[in-house]
Amino acid sequence: MSSKITRATFDQVMVPNYAPASFIPVKGLGSRVWDQEGHEFIDLAGGIAVNSLGHCHPELVAALTEQAQKLWHVSNVFTNEPVLKLASRLTELTFAERVFFSNSGAEANEAAFKLVRKYASDHSGAHKHQILSCKNSFHGRTLFTVSVGGQPKYTEGFAPVPAGIDHFEYNNIESLKAAISDNTCAVVIEPVQGEGGVLPADKAFLQAARELCDQHGALLVFDEVQTGVGRTGSLYAYMEYGVVPDVLTTAKALGGGFPIGAMLTTEKIAKSFGIGTHGSTYGGNPLGAAVAEKVIDIVSRPEVLAGVRTKAQRLIDGLNAINAKYGVFKTVRGMGLLIGAVLTEQYAGRAKDFTKLAEKHNLMVLVAGLSVVRLAPSLVITDEDIDEGLKRFEAAVADLAAA
Ligand SMILES: *Cc1c(COP(=O)(O)O)cnc(C)c1O
Repeated sequence: MSSKITRATFDQVMVPNYAPASFIPVKGLGSRVWDQEGHEFIDLAGGIAVNSLGHCHPELVAALTEQAQKLWHVSNVFTNEPVLKLASRLTELTFAERVFFSNSGAEANEAAFKLVRKYASDHSGAHKHQILSCKNSFHGRTLFTVSVGGQPKYTEGFAPVPAGIDHFEYNNIESLKAAISDNTCAVVIEPVQGEGGVLPADKAFLQAARELCDQHGALLVFDEVQTGVGRTGSLYAYMEYGVVPDVLTTAKALGGGFPIGAMLTTEKIAKSFGIGTHGSTYGGNPLGAAVAEKVIDIVSRPEVLAGVRTKAQRLIDGLNAINAKYGVFKTVRGMGLLIGAVLTEQYAGRAKDFTKLAEKHNLMVLVAGLSVVRLAPSLVITDEDIDEGLKRFEAAVADLAAA
């Protein structure tokens, strides 16, 4: 490389669809990250709910490097041991009996949305093809997944989009009742709307969705790409609610930073994905599967899941204490270590400004929409890093309040 790589390089060589921060991280350990100049950051963003065990967790580094010495890739023309071990673990630990692997959340959802259509076509006929999902939901960025997603800004300019998709109000049973019919093949719900503002579902809403799906012969799909793999304090959020879906998608935290996604379902429904109906070259790749198996192994330990609750409480108490002083948040909400601090009317629309102030204080945080500051730290973040993160968070809040 002849010239020095800087943030300016991004604007010269990258498609301008992202607006990354002004610094470039080069190293991470646990919940700390260092940039090119050696500045140390506290990471409460977790790679958008991905780095579930922080950066460079020693057991994950070992799992990856061990597999890297053995076998990287064979395609699905051949199966491999890591993927079968991972699928065995996922089926032991969840409702699911069958697993399909992808490389991302959008691809896991793409598989789910194709499967529910195919299942309905196999069992009921082509008329039963309507997919219902929630307004303000997020399911990924492929054309099918932005269409099922309930944020019109993500489909603008990309028409014509796939048909047969309708939207209802999140947490509104009457809205779902009015939308569902015997032509509905699936209802898709995020147990906590992540991108939509860290908004947890009401238990009664998910229970009603389950009942309405059963009444109309529709499948219930939970998109747990953001809520899955321990984030909410259970391995999957559906366990927290006691409402079991027919299809579940998982990605983000599944690989702890190595790209992998999965769609989980029952044996009966899986039958509709017969040989040749769907596929992925990389899906279930041995490197990703070896890492994900280790992630699942660690996260499903009772002490790790219990830790999510106590760490979440520590963070929320800290955020509430800061807010008692400055009054910039209307509410702090979420589930487990997926936390949203909702800005008051006075600061509405300024979540992105807040991330820039946080950056000045060497703190990495996220937004969820225009007015929610989102935190999705490592599930094993230390109390010391939480407290240091809160200190920096307070400094950024003070700046916002003073501006
Ligand atoms: C992030 C996310 C996706 C998309 O995952 P990608 O890996 O970015 O494709 C889908 N659904 C939900 C709920 C998400 O949070």
